[in-house]
Amino acid sequence: MGSNERLSKQERNKISRQIANGWRMRCPRGHASIQDNDGPTVYCGACNEGYHYAELMDASESGNTVVVTPPEQRDR
Ligand SMILES: [Zn+2]
Repeated sequence: MGSNERLSKQERNKISRQIANGWRMRCPRGHASIQDNDGPTVYCGACNEGYHYAELMDASESGNTVVVTPPEQRDR
């Protein structure tokens, strides 16, 4: 299942804003030191690696659930 490689423009904008807020978005290993690459990717200064938006975790949600909304919850 590679479907989480594709995010809508709306989802990308939302994640971009959350990254700009500075604390919500974490890399898949839990670091907060990520930089937005002005596209659907970020760079984590702690990992020295780039990640796709879809790989990031939202620290504001309990359990560090993945940011991508399950398809069954999108039609709201
Ligand atoms: Zn990291």
